[in-house]
Amino acid sequence: MPDMSTQPWSGEDDKFHEECGVFGVWDATDAAALTALGLHALQHRGQEAAGIVALDDGGRFHAHKGQGLVGDTFSDPKIMAGLRGRAAVGHNRYATTGETALRNVQPLYADFAFGGFAVAHNGNLTNALGLRRNLVNRGCLFQSTTDSEVFIHLIAISLYSTVVDRLIDALRQVQGAYSLVALYNGALIGARDPLGVRPLVLGRFGGADGQPPAWVLTSETCALDIVGAEFVRDIDAGEIIVIDAQGVHSIKPFGKQQDRFCIFEYIYFARPDSVVEGTPVYETRKRIGAELARESGVSADVVVPVPDSGVPAAMGYAAESGIPFELGIIRNHYVGRTFIEPTDQIRNLGVKLKHSANRPMLEGKRVILVDDSIVRGTTSKKIVEMVRAAGAREVHMRISSPPTTHSCYYGIDTPERAKLLAAQHDLDEMARIIGVDSLAYISLDGLYRALGKPGRDPAKPVYCDACFTGDYAIPLTDTQDNNDKQLSLLQVG
Ligand code: SF4
Repeated sequence: MPDMSTQPWSGEDDKFHEECGVFGVWDATDAAALTALGLHALQHRGQEAAGIVALDDGGRFHAHKGQGLVGDTFSDPKIMAGLRGRAAVGHNRYATTGETALRNVQPLYADFAFGGFAVAHNGNLTNALGLRRNLVNRGCLFQSTTDSEVFIHLIAISLYSTVVDRLIDALRQVQGAYSLVALYNGALIGARDPLGVRPLVLGRFGGADGQPPAWVLTSETCALDIVGAEFVRDIDAGEIIVIDAQGVHSIKPFGKQQDRFCIFEYIYFARPDSVVEGTPVYETRKRIGAELARESGVSADVVVPVPDSGVPAAMGYAAESGIPFELGIIRNHYVGRTFIEPTDQIRNLGVKLKHSANRPMLEGKRVILVDDSIVRGTTSKKIVEMVRAAGAREVHMRISSPPTTHSCYYGIDTPERAKLLAAQHDLDEMARIIGVDSLAYISLDGLYRALGKPGRDPAKPVYCDACFTGDYAIPLTDTQDNNDKQLSLLQVG
């Protein structure tokens, strides 16, 4: 759900960033409060803005959206009291920089002939600019600059009669990645794109004493846990789920295609306590670390994670290599993004605001630093400098993803390809730039093995891994037609 105006990459901490989390609940007391809790559990998927649209028993919709964290946006009891009803949808947004205008905050809402309709979208449409151009030419008046708004207009002009058929009609016209939840006076709907790039799960709670259960659709299982819902199943790629007074209905209008779930969800995006596509994320990250140790072992005294995201992989690396695991870097969790004006001087200090060296664990040691990825390399360089300044004798960096050589167009905030360190330099050059004694990444086959596959079959890859391979499974129509990422795309072999 990125902003469609051209925006520079906003990853201050030099990571790829998930751009959104979605949550929807049907037939539950305090649906909006449950949604706020769910969004809170999904805060790692978007910290810039949040919104909830609730549907009350009289068929009226109530909405509140705000910029900032979920806890701040929904802290006022009066606001929560106004979000009445037994059904709601919500959204977390990780905005690209610049315009974080309220009009772009989701869920998007519109009044149709059939009544109100709210939609919250995780992912990125790759033909939204072209669709938007056509829709504007037909007289549609866009209110935001998000790609997600094309859903609203495609539904509005559809000639089908039912809401679900109109939505299917809209989905047939879009390309890209989407996991979405939508709400109208009649049903909660969930939908996943035909390749299932972004996650979406179904959960349930209550239902005792012959009462119907309440249903939840959300991005990750950690959001089910927080509201006490049990996991029912992942929504299939290309599946549309309609939850109404009669229960849960599944529609698969797009035929069977090979799933291409985002492999980076396992490496970094998903919360470690989530279970993604049947696989516990924490365990998977440890297995990736173990595989990394088998592939690129080196003599050392300690294995040190770059916290927090490097921790499980470092644990797996340490267990496999037999080298002690130590928290040689401590992370300050209480650094807000805006508590100091971002002058150049402060920006240079940035890494020290977030991370500090635990000197006794580093001094005189040969250190293996484990991190999940290197994007531009700026943060890695500063962390290595910090570890050396604390007295480390050697620093070997091990990365639990393959080199990120390509931008993501499917809902992840990434810099353009020219800024990706691994797209511009070979391994030795990268090691020199970052300042380490050695640098190694997990291989693509090793990553697939850690996920329980024999390796990557290039003829039939089962995940989206385009940011490591340039193998974009969904056409990049807008990119090829329009914007400045075109050049980098054309360099793909
Ligand atoms: Fe995930 Fe990378 Fe594919 Fe984007 S390109 S969806 S980050 S695997």
